[in-house]
Amino acid sequence: MGTYSLANKVALVTGAASGIGLAIATKMYEAGCHIAIADLDAAKAEAAINGLPAQGGQQKIAIQADMSDYGSVYRMVESCEKQLGSVDILVNNAGFQYVAPIESFEPAMFQKLIDVMLVGPFVATQAVFAKMKERRWGRIINISSINGKIGAPFKAGYCSAKHGIIGLTRVTAVEAGDSGVTCNAICPGFVDTPLVRNQLEDLGSGYGVTPEKVLEEVILKQVPQNRLLDTAEIGDFAVFLASDQSASITGQAINISGGYVMH
Ligand code: NAP
Repeated sequence: MGTYSLANKVALVTGAASGIGLAIATKMYEAGCHIAIADLDAAKAEAAINGLPAQGGQQKIAIQADMSDYGSVYRMVESCEKQLGSVDILVNNAGFQYVAPIESFEPAMFQKLIDVMLVGPFVATQAVFAKMKERRWGRIINISSINGKIGAPFKAGYCSAKHGIIGLTRVTAVEAGDSGVTCNAICPGFVDTPLVRNQLEDLGSGYGVTPEKVLEEVILKQVPQNRLLDTAEIGDFAVFLASDQSASITGQAINISGGYVMH
C-alpha cells in the first residue's frame, strides 16, 4: 500500500475493464479498498477482476452496466451496495470517442456521447449522493478530459460531454457543501489507451495525414512533455483525490496532461 490509504472504503469505477478505469480501480484496490469494476462487457469486467490478486479481507466484484441506460446505472449502484455496502468512492470513467467534422457528425452519435459521458455520470451521482451525505463522507471523481477545457476539431460530441461534466462536477461540489463529500474532475491529456489508439485512423483522415503520423505530427506536437501518459499516472492521482488527505479539494477540474493544457 502506498502513501494514501483507502482501507475499508467501497469504490465503484465505471468503464474499469480497460485503460484509465482499470488503472484507477487497480490503484484503489492496492490502496486497500473493496472494489467494484463496472463495464459494458460482463466478461471483460470479470477478467479485470480476476487480474487483481486476492488481498487480505478485501472484496472485488464485477458488475455489468451500460452508462447510457438509466435503469442499468441504478441497478449497478444497487448491486454494488448489496454485495459490498454503500458506495464511498464513485469514479465516473466510462467513455468512448467518435470523431467527424460537424457537417457529417451523426446526431445519434452526439446523443450517445452525451448519454454515456454526461447523463450516465449524473444518474450515478444521483444514486449515491444522498447516502454519502448521510454518512458524512464521500468522493465523486469524474473523468473529464483536456477536451473539457478546450475545443478540438472533429470532437463535437466528446468535447460537449467533457465540458458538461465539469459543470456537473461544480454543481455536485456546491450541493455537497459541508457534508464531507467532495467532487472533482480529472482532465487527462493523451493517455496510451485503446480509446486514443483507435481514433488515430479517423483523426488522420480529418487532418490529411497517415494514422502513424497523427501521433507524432499532430497529437504530441501539442504536448510539451512530448509523450503519451501512462494510465498509472491517472490512477495514482485518483487515489489521492479519494483519500482523506484531499478533503479540502472540491469542485476542481485538474489537468494531468504533460503540460498540454495549463488552465
Ligand atoms: P478505454 O480503454 O476504451 O476504456 C473505456 C471503457 O469504457 C471501456 O472498457 C469501454 O467498454 C467502457 N464503456 C464504453 N461505453 C460504455 C457504456 N455505455 N457503459 C459502460 N462502459 C462503457 O478508454 P480510456 O482511454 O481508458 O478512457 C477512460 C475515460 O478517460 C473516458 O471517459 C475517456 O473519455 C477519458 N479520457 C481518456 C483520455 C485518453 O487519452 N485515453 C484522455 C482524456 C480523457 P468497451 O471497450 O467494451 O466499449
